[in-house]
Amino acid sequence: MTIPGKIGFIGLGIMGAPMAGHLHAAGYELHVYTRSRSKGDQLIGSGAVWHGNPASVAATCDVVITMVSTPQDVQQVWHGGLMDSARPDALLIDMTTSSPSLAQRLHDEGRAKGLRVLDAPVSGGQGGAKAATLAIMVGGDVVDYEAALPLLEKMGRKIVHCGRAGSGQRVKLTNQVLIASNVLGLAEGLAFARKGALDMKTVLSVIAESTGASTMLKAYGQKMVDGDWAAGFFVDHFIKDMTIALEEADHLGLDLTSLRNSLHRFRELQRRFGGTDGIQSIARLVG
Ligand code: NAP
Repeated sequence: MTIPGKIGFIGLGIMGAPMAGHLHAAGYELHVYTRSRSKGDQLIGSGAVWHGNPASVAATCDVVITMVSTPQDVQQVWHGGLMDSARPDALLIDMTTSSPSLAQRLHDEGRAKGLRVLDAPVSGGQGGAKAATLAIMVGGDVVDYEAALPLLEKMGRKIVHCGRAGSGQRVKLTNQVLIASNVLGLAEGLAFARKGALDMKTVLSVIAESTGASTMLKAYGQKMVDGDWAAGFFVDHFIKDMTIALEEADHLGLDLTSLRNSLHRFRELQRRFGGTDGIQSIARLVG
């Protein structure tokens, strides 16, 4: 399948808007829909075509990408017009962090309708979305992955076929399990240093070159020190990811105590401060 000119993009939030922007900048005719139309203003202003619902996007485009919030949102979009209105042989790609079993179901439903379906969640945060340097983890049929690759390469740097449908989501959840304890550990380490009256600039610069360094330190260390809680990655979304991962772990007969503990702390954070700050705000609970 060659990549056609008309690309649909549904979900224009922190991640989706810059990702769609890269496709548009690469010359694809971009067709968009998102729940709050104002989030699409910039893209529409630069020539993207607005549609009032997912069905209209699907009826127009040969490739449709979704980047919404939760598995419930994915279902709402995919079963609320996207699949029923999709063109024959269309390629539908869900890049939302969602559940592997839903990804598998959508793949099988799509195949029964003559559609091609991939799950392709991402990592790299808002910065990676803006810089088009995301890691993209793809599940589904290899031939569909190969067809999608030229598009995915406009949004990411490390793009890997991870296996059958749902595998992209499983790899993404693996990443989320890792960062769950990592970000909490970072908050605890920095609280330890601060309570010890250390100079935090010195601490950050030394640890950046030490064995405790991490991607979380790089992304969030300074923000935690500064009390900058503005969201690049919402607490609400991270709780969604950890909840899905814990359900999957239960199915696999695994007791992931660090993940369980992080989820417990993040739920407490959400109860006390809401879920629309960035995940670095876990530092507010720690000291
Ligand atoms: P976001 O800013 O909340 O963006 C999601 C967008 O999808 C919003 O504009 C939302 O509309 C729209 N949307 C949600 N449900 C919809 C529906 N049913 N129909 C139409 N539009 C809908 O979230 P984000 O940070 O871009 O994250 C998107 C996904 O990527 C999430 O699954 C997240 O876990 C994952 N992710 C995020 C990051 C990160 O660092 N931010 C990194 C990797 C992966 P409204 O504007 O009306 O809410």
